[in-house]
Amino acid sequence: MSNITTILPDSGAYWAVYEKISQVNVHLNILERLWAAWYQYMENDTLATGIMSFIMHEVVYFGRSLPWVIIDRIPWFRRYKIQNVPPPLPHFLISALAGTNPQQTKLPTAEEQWRCAKMVLLSHFTVELPQIWLFHPMCKYFGMDTDVPFPPWTKIAYQVAIFFVLEDTWHYWSHRAFHWGPLYKYVHKIHHTYAAPFGLAAEYASPIEVMALGLGTVGTPVLWCMITKDLHILTVYIWIVLRLFQAIDAHSGYEFPWSLHHFLPFWAGAEHHDVHHERFIGNYASSFRWWDYLLDTEAGPEAAKKRRGKRLAEEAAKARKAQ
Ligand SMILES: [Zn+2]
Ligand SMILES: [Zn+2]
Repeated sequence: MSNITTILPDSGAYWAVYEKISQVNVHLNILERLWAAWYQYMENDTLATGIMSFIMHEVVYFGRSLPWVIIDRIPWFRRYKIQNVPPPLPHFLISALAGTNPQQTKLPTAEEQWRCAKMVLLSHFTVELPQIWLFHPMCKYFGMDTDVPFPPWTKIAYQVAIFFVLEDTWHYWSHRAFHWGPLYKYVHKIHHTYAAPFGLAAEYASPIEVMALGLGTVGTPVLWCMITKDLHILTVYIWIVLRLFQAIDAHSGYEFPWSLHHFLPFWAGAEHHDVHHERFIGNYASSFRWWDYLLDTEAGPEAAKKRRGKRLAEEAAKARKAQ
């Protein structure tokens, strides 16, 4: 912390540090003062970044998953459940009972969700926590800014957009590689435990997979920083929060008329990733649909029909040529 006037009060309380910083740094906004006070209060930048990163991940991961756990318990939402098994009933009864029968959907049980949450927590404490202490030294090594004031919102926005595109590319290829026989069998199979996914299952995976796919999330901003030397750690935090939202929502199992992909047709969303879990093949990208579209790896019956049509047309053209 160097760009602020430092006058530490006698009292070590966080709010006393905040008050002092506010008095002598009137040019800073509230968020910047809170940020600067945190680093001064901690007196150890590695610890300050480490604790902040870990708490942020836990709060966002479980905080964003909780609404989906509640939605799973509300019958009204079942009409939007993607893997909604059609009940073997006459048509007039199906519409009369729509959204009222939990046995007809692939809803996760409370026990399943609890078991999944415990496994994710265990992995956060054993795999992620030890690595998080390397985060601040790594940021500093690559020249990332951790100081106040923060960069303008426009810069944060375009950098986050670039990270989304780069991570999606990394995710597509590494996820596709994870579906290669041995890698699937020994690593990725764990993530496919749930054929009908739910929010909490987003990070339910082998530690090897968490690290390989996590490299796309953490590695893209680091790469950007190495090349441009222009990145603030706050931008990385905002990016990670949005990426967590994307991953949890993609596993939610629900598709709404107001889901983002209806407005942004290239956005993947739950509809895209749910089919991947149901069919175990195709739809490998994380945030966008373009890689699966361009490389013909889209999943689901519609995509299969399209591929079949294309193959038949190609065969017919070949036969015509041969005549
Ligand atoms: Zn997969
Ligand atoms: Zn998944």
